[in-house]
Amino acid sequence: MMDFTDEQIHRYARHIILNEVGGTGQAQLLRSKVLVIGAGGLGSPVAMYLAAAGVGTIGVIDDDTVDLSNLQRQILHGTQDVGQSKVESAKRTLNRLNPDVAVETHRLRLDPGNALDLFSRYDVICDGSDNFATRFLVNDACHLAKKTLVSAAILRFDGQLSVYKTQTGGPCYRCIFKEPPPPESIPSCAQAGVLGAIAGWMGAMQATETLKELLNIGESLSGWLVMVDALSCEMRKIKVKRDPGCPLCGDHPTILDLSSQDYTGHACAAA
Ligand SMILES: [Zn+2]
Repeated sequence: MMDFTDEQIHRYARHIILNEVGGTGQAQLLRSKVLVIGAGGLGSPVAMYLAAAGVGTIGVIDDDTVDLSNLQRQILHGTQDVGQSKVESAKRTLNRLNPDVAVETHRLRLDPGNALDLFSRYDVICDGSDNFATRFLVNDACHLAKKTLVSAAILRFDGQLSVYKTQTGGPCYRCIFKEPPPPESIPSCAQAGVLGAIAGWMGAMQATETLKELLNIGESLSGWLVMVDALSCEMRKIKVKRDPGCPLCGDHPTILDLSSQDYTGHACAAA
């Protein structure tokens, strides 16, 4: 098979044998670039499954350091990484999983000044951030940069997942969630709590949808919202539509650049 080493053919054998992936799809994954926002509960399984799958370039953004309370769900990091930079810890784990992957570390906080330039370097953006301000910033930047956004969120025993692809006419995050909730209306990350394994469930789904988008296989989750309730082990898939009145992707948009918006809210969602 062209372009593969013997080791790669061996490593990716279970992918290559799938009709929907094959040698062509695996080569496509090796050429792909995915940006993972947040090296936390969701970012951990997302980045690990993408690395194992042979996604050739994985960018990881996080400005935080590993805390002992993260280890209950953030499986990129281990006990010996406490106190260290999350992106460096992530890079070590991903390189140990698969040396084929170039891991690009961005130890910074995403802001309106750096988002578009950063996003322009990747094919798909995976949001696993832990606050609503970042979620809206990521959504707006993906629309403006015409990038596919695979977005997941977790809290307590619940999870949410969707794909936002406004460049092909799908709704954006704002079409569904309108605007960030006031900080006082929702509990802080630490107050709310989250079952660690939910991060694995949602993160694995997020990685799956990302691989589908990169390979262009199956049915895109664009236009659908998946809601997971772990306590009843129930999953609902609801149709969601583009809002013609959406200030970002609607018929008469008012958000034309990132500098016009305030993304400084601190309302938290666990991740
Ligand atoms: Zn919209």
